Amino acid sequence: MPRVNYAAPSTVDEAVSILAGAAGLAKVLSGGTDLLVQLRSGRLRPDLIVDTKRIPGLIGIREDADKFVIGAATPGAMMSDHKALEHAWPGIVEGVDLIGSTQIQGRASLAGNLCNASPAADSVPAVIAARATCVLAGPGGSRRTVPVEAICTGPGRTSLAKGEFIVEFHIPKPKSRQSDAYLRFIPRTEMDIAVVGCGVNVTLDAAGTCTDARVILGAVAPTAVIVDDAAKALIGHKLDAPTLAALDAAAQAACKPITDKRGTIEYRTKVAGVLARRAAAIAFERAAARA
Ligand SMILES: Cc1cc2nc3c(=O)[nH]c(=O)nc-3n(C[C@H](O)[C@H](O)[C@H](O)COP(=O)(O)OP(=O)(O)OC[C@H]3O[C@@H](n4cnc5c(N)ncnc54)[C@H](O)[C@@H]3O)c2cc1C
Repeated sequence: MPRVNYAAPSTVDEAVSILAGAAGLAKVLSGGTDLLVQLRSGRLRPDLIVDTKRIPGLIGIREDADKFVIGAATPGAMMSDHKALEHAWPGIVEGVDLIGSTQIQGRASLAGNLCNASPAADSVPAVIAARATCVLAGPGGSRRTVPVEAICTGPGRTSLAKGEFIVEFHIPKPKSRQSDAYLRFIPRTEMDIAVVGCGVNVTLDAAGTCTDARVILGAVAPTAVIVDDAAKALIGHKLDAPTLAALDAAAQAACKPITDKRGTIEYRTKVAGVLARRAAAIAFERAAARA
């Protein structure tokens, strides 16, 4: 492994100041399940690694009246074990539960999954579907809150400025009859990267008609895609055959995938429609059960 400088600050402002003052490439470390693999393989040669795990609040889940506050470096395993979070957003926890293995989930964080900026990141679609935001700390004591979808700008690229890093995520609590689901398709039964991922979040009225929806696709474009036409296909409708067909068509139309060893453009596009239908069916069923 190449030599690299390492810092483990104990406050957010100290971390920002180290990141902002670094000469060369400085990388934030949360769980390290992407960063350390890239370092060992030589794909990435940072001059400095800033480990955020010792900063109070970076690991942990807090519940406010209207939201969950999740520290940026919180491992997925802690999210899966959090009963209130799992009850509120089963789809978000489904995404986290699909990352790697039990060992990986003991470290892998939401911030790392998001900022590694893989189009196939499993925790991202359902988190965007829930209209989650993240709080960024930056130089001069600045704090800004942005929607999660504003972070990734392309494969391996983010909108974070020099010295900025994610401190925490805010995930709003569900309204009544609101729920979600996340599904992915992989070529084998586990430990693989999504051919397509799909997060669906719906709110229903007492009659089972959809009043609000978000449909997010992963792995079919350079970043996760918010499919507005798929949401429009659901809103104002029950989940009948014509609605499912319109949802499927909208999901397929939003795909701009690549062909690689996991699937062709045509295959990914078709699978996106199928996953959107299936995730919507699960989300509708869960939302209806919350009457
Ligand atoms: C065996 C294996 C299987 C895997 N399977 C999957 C899978 O099925 N699905 C999937 O989506 N991923 C998978 N991954 C990838 C990885 O585990 C996830 O992306 C994980 O969530 C990364 O989180 P981390 O905390 O380990 O990130 P790190 O490795 O610590 O960081 C990843 C990137 O994010 C940046 N970063 C971290 N924290 C912050 C922050 N607070 N602010 C700004 N930037 C930050 C880092 O600088 C780095 O560029 C797998 C990895 C391995 C090794």
